[in-house]
Amino acid sequence: MKSIRTQMSIYLIIMAVIIFSGLGLIINRRLETLPSYIKLQYQEVTNARAAEISKELEGMLEQVRMTARSSVIMSMDMDEIKPYLLALSEGSKFRNMTISDIEGKAWTTYEMDIDISNQEQFERIVLNGEDEVISKSFQSPYIREAPIVTISHAVKQGGYTVGLVNGVVSTEFLNQIVRDINFKRTGYAWIVDESGNIISHPQIYITNESNIIDVVGDDIVKEQIVSTKEGVNIYTENFGENFLVIHSEIESSPGWIFLMSISYQEAYKEINEINRYLQYSFIAGLILVILYSNSLSKPIRSLKMVFEKASNGDFSVKADESIKNEIGEAGKSFNKMLGQIKDLTYRDPVTGLYNFNSFLLELPYKLRDYKYDSSEDIGYIAVVSVDDFKRVNSIGGYETGNVVLKTLSDSIKGFISQNELVARYFGDEIILLLFDKDIEDVHIRLSRLKNLCSYPFQIAGSEYRLKVSIGVGLLESENDPVEDVIHQGTIAKLKVKKFGGDGYEIYNEDINNAIKEEQEIENSLYHALENGEFHLLYQPIVNIKTNKIVGNEALLRWKNESWSNIPINYIVELMEKKGFIIEVGEWILNEACRQTKYWQDSNMGKLKISVNISPIQLEDPDFMIKVENALKNTGLNPNYLELEITESSAMTNVKDKLEKIKGLKEMGIRISIDDFGTGYSSLSYLTQLPIDTLKIDRSFIKDMLSDSSSKAITSTIITMSKSLNISTTAEGVETEEHFYALKAMGCDKIQGYLVSKPLRPELIESLIKSITGNQ
Ligand code: C2E
Ligand code: CA
Ligand code: CA
Repeated sequence: MKSIRTQMSIYLIIMAVIIFSGLGLIINRRLETLPSYIKLQYQEVTNARAAEISKELEGMLEQVRMTARSSVIMSMDMDEIKPYLLALSEGSKFRNMTISDIEGKAWTTYEMDIDISNQEQFERIVLNGEDEVISKSFQSPYIREAPIVTISHAVKQGGYTVGLVNGVVSTEFLNQIVRDINFKRTGYAWIVDESGNIISHPQIYITNESNIIDVVGDDIVKEQIVSTKEGVNIYTENFGENFLVIHSEIESSPGWIFLMSISYQEAYKEINEINRYLQYSFIAGLILVILYSNSLSKPIRSLKMVFEKASNGDFSVKADESIKNEIGEAGKSFNKMLGQIKDLTYRDPVTGLYNFNSFLLELPYKLRDYKYDSSEDIGYIAVVSVDDFKRVNSIGGYETGNVVLKTLSDSIKGFISQNELVARYFGDEIILLLFDKDIEDVHIRLSRLKNLCSYPFQIAGSEYRLKVSIGVGLLESENDPVEDVIHQGTIAKLKVKKFGGDGYEIYNEDINNAIKEEQEIENSLYHALENGEFHLLYQPIVNIKTNKIVGNEALLRWKNESWSNIPINYIVELMEKKGFIIEVGEWILNEACRQTKYWQDSNMGKLKISVNISPIQLEDPDFMIKVENALKNTGLNPNYLELEITESSAMTNVKDKLEKIKGLKEMGIRISIDDFGTGYSSLSYLTQLPIDTLKIDRSFIKDMLSDSSSKAITSTIITMSKSLNISTTAEGVETEEHFYALKAMGCDKIQGYLVSKPLRPELIESLIKSITGNQ
C-alpha cells in the first residue's frame, strides 16, 4: 500500500508533467521558427552593411572616375596635374593618389615617381582596355606599412587610353570601417575576396596573407561562403567556441564578401534564455508540486502520528484542530474521543478527580518540577478518608454518597495549587500531593484541609457535616519510593481513625509501631476463638419503676497472654474489618442464650438477654438461620432474646434489613436500637422498623444534667418513643441524680455503673440473689 503522501505526489507530478509538456509543445513550436527568424534578421543586417561598404566603394570609384575625366588630368600635363592631384587627395578618403602613363611610369601624391607597370590595375586598364578597376589587395613595394587596394580609372583622349588615375586605399582604412561595425558583445565584421583571401579583419594577427580557411577552419563552410551571394553558416573558432557567420557579397567590389561573425551563444541568447526560463520554471514547478503535496499530506501524516502515539498509550497528544478542512474536523473529533478515553482512563467517574493510577503517573512529573523549583520545600502525600462514610451511604443511599464525595472533591480541587495533585484513592478516600515551605506550614495547611472537609453542605435538602481522618507521609528524600510514602500516609490515617477520626496525623515511626501492633493483634485474634480466649460479661438492666433486674446485656471480653487492656470495641472493630465477627458473633449468641437459659432453669427469674449484633453479622445471609439455631440449641424462648443493632446498621440497605427484622420479630425475638441519638437518623425513620427498644446513648445521659440540649434530646426521645409504643433504656447511668431525672422523664429501664459494671456470670447470680425478690 502506498502512503497518501506518495499517492498525492505521484498524482500531482503526473498532472504537472502533462501541463508542462503541453505548454512546452506550444512554446517549442514558436521557438522552432525563432532561429530562422533570427538568421533572417542577421542576414538583413549583414546585407545592409555590405551595401553600405559597396556604396562607400562606389563613392570612391565615382571620385576616381570624376578625376580621370577632369580636363586637367585628361591633358596629361604633369606640371598641372601634380598640384591638382595633391589638392584632391588631401580632401579625400584615399591614402594617396597616383597618375600613370601607359608605360607604367607614375607619380604619386607622395611626390614620388614610381613604376606601376606590373600592378594588376595597370595591366587590366592599359593591356585589357578595362575602364575602371578595383584591385585585389596587395603589398605595395613603395608603401611598407600595410597592404593596399587601388581604385583606378582610365584616362582617355579621343577614345584612347593615355594613362590611369589610381586612388590608393590602405586596407587599414577598410579595417577601420569593419572595426567600426561591431554588434553585441562578440560580433565583428570582416571582408574577404572572391577566393577567400582576407582583405580586412579587426584582429591584427589576421593579415591579407591569411585566408578565410584560417578563420572558419572548414572547407565546406569556406565553399559555402565564397560560392554564394549570401548565407548563414556555423564554424568553430580557435578557442573552441561556435560562431555564426553571415555573409553577403559587396556589390560594387571585385567579388568581395562582407562577413559578420557572432558567437553562437550570443546569437541565440534570447532563445537560450527562454529555454532556460522554461527549464527553471519546470524545475520550480516540480518543487512546488512536491512541496504542495507534502503540505497537503503533512496534516494527514501528523494526524496518523497522533493516532499511533495515542494507541501506544500516550494520551498527552493532541490533534491539530486549526486546519480548516476535513482533517481539522477529524482532529477535533479525535481530540474529543481521546478526551473521553482519557477521562475513562484517568478520571474517576464519580468525583471527576484523577484516579489513583493517573495520580501515580503524574506524580513523578510534579515531583521533578517541584524539586527543580525549590529544593527547600516539603513535599508530602495526604490520604483523606471520610469518617464513617458508610453512614452517609446508609442515610441517603449510594447516589447521595456519590454526590457527597463529588462535593467534597470539588472543594478539595479548589484547595490545591497548580503544581499539586489530587486524586480519588479507594472508596471514600482522596489522595493529595502537596507542597509547603516548612513543617509549620504543613500543619496549618492540614488543619485548613480538615476544616474545609468538615464544612457543612446541603444535598437534596439534608445538611451534611463530614468528618475526615487525614494521614500524611512526608517525601523527605528524593529516593523515597512514592509507594512507601503513600503507605505511610495510609498508616497515619489509620491511626487517626483508631482514635476516633476527625483529625490529621503525620507519619512517624511510633505510628508505624502502633499499626504493626494492630497487625499482631489481628494475628492473635485469628486463633482466639479456637483457643477459647473469649468470654462474656453481663451487665444488668433494671426496670426503673420496680428497681428489679429484668435482663442483662452480654458484653464480649478477650483474654490473651500478650494483649490485655485493649478496649473491646476496638477488638470488635478489628474483627469486623477482618470478618471474624461473623463466627465470633455466632459463638456470642449461643453462649449468651445458653447462659440465660441456664439462669432461667436455675430459678433466677425470667431474665432477658440483650446481645450486640454487628452490622457485618446482620448482612450475613445466614444470620436468621444462625439465630434460629442458637435458640434451638440452647432451648431459650425467643421472647427473652433481644438483639441490639446500631442505628446505622439498621438504616443501611433498609429494605433488606426490614425483611430480616420482620423475620426476627415473627420468630418472637425483640429488637433494640443501640447508641440511639449518635447517628443521623431521626425517630421518624425508625417508625418504618418494628422495634421494641431504644437505647439512649451514654453521651446524652452523661451530659443530661449539665447540658440543656442533651436533656431536651433525652426527654424528647423518651416522650416520642412512648407515643410510638417503644420502650426506652438509658445507657451509662452512673449516679442517682441521673436515675431520678430519667425516672421523672418516664424512661423505662436503666443500665450503668449505678447498678453494676459488666460482671462474670457467677457474680450476676450472687447480685440477683442479693436483691431480694428479684427472682
Ligand atoms: P455498647 O453496646 O454501648 O455497650 C455498653 C458499653 O458501655 C460497655 O462497654 C459498658 O461497659 C459500658 N458501660 C456500661 N455502663 C456504663 C457506665 O455507667 N459508664 C460508662 N462509662 N460506661 C458504661 P464495653 O463492654 O467496653 O463495650 C464497648 C462496646 O463494644 C459496646 O458498646 C459494643 O458496641 C461493643 N461490644 C461489646 N461486646 C460486644 C459483643 O458481644 N458483640 C458486639 N457486636 N459488640 C460488642
Ligand atoms: Ca449494646
Ligand atoms: Ca450502647
